[in-house]
Amino acid sequence: MVSDVSLDVEREQAGTFRVLLHTCCAPCSIYCLDKLEADGYSPTPFFYNPNIHPYKEFERRLDALKLYLVTRELDPIVDDEYDLDLFLERAVGSGSDRCAACYELRLTRTAKEAANKGFGRFTTTLLVSPYQNHDLIVETAQRAASDYGVEFLYIDFRPGFREGQAKARELGLYRQPYCGCIYSEDERYNPKRRTTGR
Ligand code: SF4
Repeated sequence: MVSDVSLDVEREQAGTFRVLLHTCCAPCSIYCLDKLEADGYSPTPFFYNPNIHPYKEFERRLDALKLYLVTRELDPIVDDEYDLDLFLERAVGSGSDRCAACYELRLTRTAKEAANKGFGRFTTTLLVSPYQNHDLIVETAQRAASDYGVEFLYIDFRPGFREGQAKARELGLYRQPYCGCIYSEDERYNPKRRTTGR
């Protein structure tokens, strides 16, 4: 039986490069997948987002992603354990460092998955959003990559954000109105705290 690792070597020799793509949702995946494939990479989406609240919203985003990936003939790796306690442990009480804790949790898990499954590299759809802290994501991903001995593939996907969202709209995909956690939901809907347009 051929191992994942030797398959990776074979594919790289053949000119295609496997990359584990941490994927937050279907709309953000569209441009990232287009760009990676155009650049000669062979992406595998990886869903690990225990930051999404409430659980019904988590399910809705995951279902939308699965539906979309069928159209691209891509099989995602899904961690649907929903580590709610772990996310809350990191985020509650972190104040303005909440997003740093959230990136750390998701990207460290992604680097670990990449190492365990024999991917040489990983990247993330978080890099497509102009609403996220881009520099902090890069810094966190680089640290996670170094901890797990894999490469972090940095691509600034932001120029394709509008294009990806427009395609999602055309396809009728579910487009979430807030980032993910209960705090971002509060910021989105509570008039006393509304800060973002997302
Ligand atoms: S706002 Fe978004 S990135 Fe920040 S903690 Fe909440 S879900 Fe994570």
